[in-house]
Amino acid sequence: MTIGWNFDNTYSKLPEAFISNTSPTPVKTPELIILNDSLVKKLGLNFLSMNKKELSELFSGNSLPKGSKTISQAYAGHQFGHFTMLGDGRAVLMGEHISRNNERFDIQFKGSGKTPFSRNGDGRAFLGAMLREYIISEAMHFLNIPTTRSLSVVQTGENVMRENILPGAILTRVASSHLRVGTFQYIAARQNVDELKTLVDYTLDRHYPNIKQSKNQAIAFLKVLMEKQIDLVVNWMRVGFIHGVMNTDNMTISGETIDYGPCAFMDTYDPQTVFSSIDQLGRYAYFNQPSITKWNLARFAESLIPLIDENKDKAIDIATEEINNFEKVYEIKWLNMMRDKLGLFGEDPKDQVLILDLLTWMHKNKADYTNTFCLLMNVKIQNNKIYTNEDFMVWKKRWEARLKLNNNTAEKYLKLMKSVNPLIIPRNHKVEEALTLASNGDLTLFNK
Ligand code: AMP
Ligand code: MG
Repeated sequence: MTIGWNFDNTYSKLPEAFISNTSPTPVKTPELIILNDSLVKKLGLNFLSMNKKELSELFSGNSLPKGSKTISQAYAGHQFGHFTMLGDGRAVLMGEHISRNNERFDIQFKGSGKTPFSRNGDGRAFLGAMLREYIISEAMHFLNIPTTRSLSVVQTGENVMRENILPGAILTRVASSHLRVGTFQYIAARQNVDELKTLVDYTLDRHYPNIKQSKNQAIAFLKVLMEKQIDLVVNWMRVGFIHGVMNTDNMTISGETIDYGPCAFMDTYDPQTVFSSIDQLGRYAYFNQPSITKWNLARFAESLIPLIDENKDKAIDIATEEINNFEKVYEIKWLNMMRDKLGLFGEDPKDQVLILDLLTWMHKNKADYTNTFCLLMNVKIQNNKIYTNEDFMVWKKRWEARLKLNNNTAEKYLKLMKSVNPLIIPRNHKVEEALTLASNGDLTLFNK
């Protein structure tokens, strides 16, 4: 029986500046920890003919499938506001796999050893972090949020040194591509317009072929990325997701969430919530995510300047005008998302106040973000007396009055609410509990 790999490696054919031919560094005693069966199916693959040892060799990068062409990709990025030349420092692309539905997927090893872009890093990753990416990225996918996905995690049998000595691991990540805002920044920084045109051409062919007919491709591209990224951040706000490291190198061109590091789902509603210990100033706090998205899009626009107009000042004016639409578009989309969370059909001038009043109440009363919407959907949650307080009752009456508008029925609004409000999120303390056990070899809770 064949596995079904169907590689067509286009990125590796781009000019030298974009890539480095890099192989995964073999690991000692790889052991497959988890394989994502539903994703395997979606990719049109079938590993039944391989035993666990062979799968471990495959997903550690020790033994590459026929047709694979491994590369690491160059990119730059603003890390906490500071521009740096980066690149895949611990990742190697196995290849681009075309599924039976003719969809193209990057299959990438993360934690596969040093590359020319590793700087001072060891090119490795540790088991807890890779399993964390696995859980959270899969949760995001099933919460209907565009994201890279996780195909497998292999333990390497080698240790990695962090603050402690930790078991090493490699994650196989699946993405519609690994093109990032930082990829454009990297090429733009080289100040070679031909290379920039090559990158734009490649990206539009791969992700946005319709734009190829536009009069001004660069502007059309900026518009579509802005749309995609606003949709993405609205989705994050919907479920209370905090990415944690919204550097421009961690913002994809496809609009998928990427690079799960110190990310988490908010429990108690607080707009200032930050999980990452390195984010001292709260740059990437929950409520800053939209404005950081805009800031990152402005960096993207800057990288396209030479293609927007021959006259640089004019190009900057055009780009600025586009970027300045951000708030208007975001607010409309955010408001509609919140209307959905509350089961509201149509528009009423008082909707925004109704929504903001609920959020203010949640903040003041330290309400759980997810559970509050569960309660409004009549889903049983842990007893909590805050929901019997006077302010909440008064708010609820206003909400119930608004629910009656536009021929709404309980059946209709509950259906709408259930389509956007999660019942289950990967709560951080639960994730940590599962990861601690998994790092000691017990995957029961992780799998559960
Ligand atoms: P991240 O914060 O994970 O998005 O990574 C930022 C940059 O650091 C990227 O260029 C990564 O490839 C690189 N990097 C992260 N961890 C390592 C590591 N252990 N070894 C080498 N490079 C790394
Ligand atoms: Mg990254």
